Amino acid sequence: MRYLIIGGGVAGTTAAGELRRLDSSAEITIVCDEHHPLYSRVLLPLYLNGKVERERIFLKKESWYADQEIEWLRGDVAVRLNVKNKFVELLSGREIEYDKLLLTTGSEVRVIDADMRGVSYFRTLDDADHMSQLFLEQGEDAHGGIYGGGFIACEYLNLFGHFNIPIVLAHRGEHFWNGTLESSSGELMAKHLTEQGVELYSNADFKDLVGDKELTGFTTNAGDHKATLLGVGIGVGPDLSWLKDSGVETGAGIKADEYLETNVPGIFTAGDVAEFYHPILGRQLKLGNWMNSMSQGRAVAKNMVGDKAPFDLVSSYAMNVLGLDLIFVGDVEKAHSDQIHVIGSVEDGGITQVHERDGKVVGGVCLNRNTDRPTITTGIKEKASASDIVNTLSG
Ligand SMILES: Cc1cc2nc3c(=O)[nH]c(=O)nc-3n(C[C@H](O)[C@H](O)[C@H](O)COP(=O)(O)OP(=O)(O)OC[C@H]3O[C@@H](n4cnc5c(N)ncnc54)[C@H](O)[C@@H]3O)c2cc1C
Repeated sequence: MRYLIIGGGVAGTTAAGELRRLDSSAEITIVCDEHHPLYSRVLLPLYLNGKVERERIFLKKESWYADQEIEWLRGDVAVRLNVKNKFVELLSGREIEYDKLLLTTGSEVRVIDADMRGVSYFRTLDDADHMSQLFLEQGEDAHGGIYGGGFIACEYLNLFGHFNIPIVLAHRGEHFWNGTLESSSGELMAKHLTEQGVELYSNADFKDLVGDKELTGFTTNAGDHKATLLGVGIGVGPDLSWLKDSGVETGAGIKADEYLETNVPGIFTAGDVAEFYHPILGRQLKLGNWMNSMSQGRAVAKNMVGDKAPFDLVSSYAMNVLGLDLIFVGDVEKAHSDQIHVIGSVEDGGITQVHERDGKVVGGVCLNRNTDRPTITTGIKEKASASDIVNTLSG
């Protein structure tokens, strides 16, 4: 059996290892446009702030691929899929045939329409190395700018905070995570960041960079902001262009059923790029967290060798932003919630949102209320009524 995996992040590499374990005679190939063996994106901030050495962020050694007899085509890009003749064409011109195909291409960062030395993005190890160089060059003269109001903006907040770099942050919309947070949660977050000394601007659309060769600032419709470093975190989205006209159905991601199989039999997907049907949450959704990607990598390999087990993990994403604890569990998109119950308040310093659909709890967001997490997670798994969960957490 020939298994071809496009994308060598945690989902693809976990799947490759699991496929080898399940099928010792299989031919397994990973194609990835990055050059590094698997590393942890979650540890990248800790590498940058010096808490973890660079070598320790690698989760696989280069030798692992050969030891596992996995062909590892790094630095190459899948550019076309032919489902009729079952092959993928690479940028290098090579065509690779498969019996079963796994698409784990993750997400790409969205970029602003301007560039200058001092501007950075934060997705890859190469991005982190670039930032490390900028921190080194600028030292105490650095002024940190952040454009964005999501997870990556939070990573920049922690990094600049760690180095005691003054921070100005501008984001679109009323508050962080407009598609997820209720206004009181957004207010709590803004209050916390302001108390930590962050100069915060909402409803601020990016206009331009300021500087000659090197960055000195950036402008938004909220004003002119001083910054020698600008971290851009305006979201991520998958590059699905190479699948256009392939016959594989795409939407926000690559569409799949609860077995992580696409509409084309024998083609599977997993990780950040997968828009899969979640049997407990009852809809097709795309998630972007490590726990989900790694678990899907393991689960999809089993389904590729012939098992048929639905993927129904209720995953979560937890982080701390300059001292504020944040946890997202399950399905937290406002647009897909019938009702969002808010427990706690800005004055209390802690808020939990309970997301309800068809009377059931489907997701939760906890700000400084970590102990609510297990109740929400169990509630989602057991399809508990949202009002019962709200009563438990309010008691
Ligand atoms: C800085 C940072 C911090 C994070 N912190 C956390 C955290 O604390 N907790 C958490 O849960 N999650 C965190 N995440 C998110 C988490 O890392 C991701 O959800 C996870 O890495 C996704 O894994 P994946 O394998 O699906 O995709 P990826 O890791 O994105 O891997 C996909 C790979 O495929 C490659 N690729 C794409 N298209 C092609 C193509 N056409 N041909 C060949 N190769 C291609 C990509 O370049 C990439 O290398 C963080 C992410 C970042 C960037």
